[in-house]
This record gives sequence, structure tokens and C-alpha cells, in this order.
Amino acid sequence: WTDGTQRDADNSLTELAALAETAGSQVLEGLIQRRSRPDPATYVGRGKVDDLTGVVLSTGADTVICDGELSPSQLRNLEQRTKVKVVDRTALILDIFAQHAKSKEGKAQVELAQLEYLLPRLRGWGETLSRQTGGSGRGGGAGGGVGLRGPGETKLETDRRRIRHRIARLRREIKAMKTVRQTKRARRSRNAVPAVAIAGYTNAGKSSLLNRLTGAGVLVENALFATLDPTTRRATTSDGRLYTLSDTVGFVRHLPHQIVEAFRSTLEEVAEADLVVHVVDGTHPDPEEQVRAVREVLSEVGADRLPELLVVNKTDATDEETLLRLKRLWPDAVFVSAYSGRGIEALREVIEQRLPRPAVEVRAVLP
Ligand code: GDP
Repeated sequence: WTDGTQRDADNSLTELAALAETAGSQVLEGLIQRRSRPDPATYVGRGKVDDLTGVVLSTGADTVICDGELSPSQLRNLEQRTKVKVVDRTALILDIFAQHAKSKEGKAQVELAQLEYLLPRLRGWGETLSRQTGGSGRGGGAGGGVGLRGPGETKLETDRRRIRHRIARLRREIKAMKTVRQTKRARRSRNAVPAVAIAGYTNAGKSSLLNRLTGAGVLVENALFATLDPTTRRATTSDGRLYTLSDTVGFVRHLPHQIVEAFRSTLEEVAEADLVVHVVDGTHPDPEEQVRAVREVLSEVGADRLPELLVVNKTDATDEETLLRLKRLWPDAVFVSAYSGRGIEALREVIEQRLPRPAVEVRAVLP
């Protein structure tokens, strides 16, 4: 369903398909319906549900993925009508985050976000989600026994209580891990090492750029959300000053608020940087929309007041016309290709210039 333009809907659906593929699904068919707002009962209109059911039957699909956040009853109704699993954008993104989280803290944050998403949906959607989270390799947790279809009230209450306990425990653990990270960060700032945060839409090329700038072997994947756990590397300026470069979580349109909440402490690290290098994918059909989405998340964690350096990446694959348009649109941006290395030296220089200078330079002056 969309109330936007055809182009917005197409872009959003293409991205949804990429997300679904990242999660390991094979995408068979897309269906868009224009209407002023979602149907309260079935998300898409009643007539469209029949079309959808037809597509499910003809393609043999086993899942319907909707590009929005559905209410528990919308999910239930759609599942009953189409007879297959129905997943919304939020659940899909949470699932991808679960597959990609590597650090202990990242895993705990995703599990917390998943459980918070699950709690209000337990009654309507139990089986589907427990199967989904079970598949994400999270192990343990509240996944296993949760929400078999049509559980008795008592079972449901037990499940809810178990989930609430688990949520409380995860919150405590995350808080403790955050303290450890803050101590590390405080040590860094005592040493007065300037910090540069690389932010940007998912798949924009943040990890590739970090590799280019520091020679670090960071995993680069042509998949949404390759980066979940922030990576920090050291770099030095041409005159020998040390600074750090950190890769951040990939941003995406309609990032579920549970994710923003769960990753708040990681994202807040961006807010303490001295400079945000905001990477934009020059080959994307709508880079401006991506920039808007990233700035929205940055402002949510208070990082919008930091100096921002816009970097347009993938210029090796961007056509001339688009490049000209983007240069006019963002005259202060640096244009690079992490692939070919074009513009990387210039970028390094601009970063150096924009790093804060030490307030006092201490030198022993001998008479
Ligand atoms: P991240 O999600 O922002 O960290 O993005 P990655 O660094 O993992 O890169 C995402 C995809 O874009 C990968 O397939 C990269 O190979 C590709 N990519 C990154 N930089 C460039 C570039 O300069 N040119 C082209 N053509 N592709 C790039």
C-alpha cells in the first residue's frame, strides 16, 4: 500500500525486495496498491487481498512481506485470508539485524528489539514469529516455546512473563556493556584523539571507504546491513596526528523504532564524534531520500549538531549527468570511489582539515 508517488513506491518496494533477499528469501512478485491509507482490517483493500491470494496461489509463494508496520490484527487477518505467513517491514529488518549481529552487545540489542516487537503481538502472531526468530540463530531466549497458535490464556500469561523477565535482563546486560564502552571512550577522549564517525545509508559503501582510508580488513558485503557492530580504526594525518574512524550501523528508511531504541547507545557514539562523514551512494535512484532518512536518525540521537562532511561514493558507476546534478545539489560534498580510489586522497585531506586542532600545542622551547 502507498499514498506516495509511483516512483517512491517502486523504490521502496525494490529496497524491500533487497532486504528480503538479504534475509535469505527469494522474491517472486511485487504488488502495489495506491490508496489514501491502509485498510484497518487487512492493510491492503479487501479486493486487493483477493489479487494477493491469487498471486500466492499462482506463484506458490509461502510468505507475503508488507512494506510497512502492520497491526497484530492486520497480520492475523491477512494470514487467514492468504493462508501463508505474513511478515511486515519491521519484522523483516529485525530478522536481518538478528542474522548479522556479531558482538555480544549487538546480539543482546537485537534480541531486545525483537522481544519488544513480539510482546504485543503474542496472541495474534505467535507461531510465525517464533519460527522466524528461531531461524535467526539467536539460540535460547524466549523464542522456542512462545506462542503456539491459539495458546490458552494461562500459557500466554506465562509466555508474556518470561518475555518480560528476559527483556529486563537484557536491559541490565546492555547497560553494563555500555558502561564498559563508555570507559573506553572516555580514555580516548582523555587522550584527546579526535573521532570521525562514518554514517550513511545501508550499502552506501561505508565499510569499503573505511578500508580505503585505513587499510583495515573490514567485511564488505553486497547485502543490506553488513555492518551492525561498529568498527573503530586508527588513522593518522599527514603531519602525524592520530584520529579514529568508526563505521556505524547501516541506516535504512523506516528503521523500526525498536531498532533505533535498541541501538541507541551504539548510535549515540556517533553523537560524540568530532566529525560525521556521511556517505551517500551516487548510483542510488534517490540519493536525496537516503540523505534525508540518515539525517533523521542522526537527529534522533542528537548527532545533527555535529559538523557533517557529505561524501558521494561509487562515482565510478555513476553516470555523468547524475554526477553533475549531485555536484550542483551538494557543492561542498567530496566525490569519491572506494573501488577505484578516485578522490580518496582529497577526502583524506578534507577530513584532516576539519578535525579539531589541539587547543594548546605543548613544545619545549629552549633558549
Ligand atoms: P556499507 O553497508 O555502507 O558498509 O557498504 P559496503 O562497504 O559493504 O559496500 C556495499 C556494496 O557497494 C558492496 O557490494 C561494495 O562492493 C559496493 N561498493 C562500495 N564502494 C563502491 C564504489 O566505490 N563503487 C562501486 N561501484 N561499488 C562500491
